[in-house]
Amino acid sequence: MPKKFACKDIGMQCNFTAKAKTEDELMEKIAQHAKEAHNMPQIDAAMAAKVKGAIKSSFF
Ligand SMILES: [Zn+2]
Repeated sequence: MPKKFACKDIGMQCNFTAKAKTEDELMEKIAQHAKEAHNMPQIDAAMAAKVKGAIKSSFF
């Protein structure tokens, strides 16, 4: 099932959303965005857990 993520779901003041077929693919997109938009070259374990908690399954 496709997965989706919105930055604002983890409390970011950011309109970024991402969708992907798998969680791994989505995490890659989020990592790229975090690096470019949030000056976060590495997603640490705590942030990864937070992000994964905010990922939702999407039928779209
Ligand atoms: Zn963002």
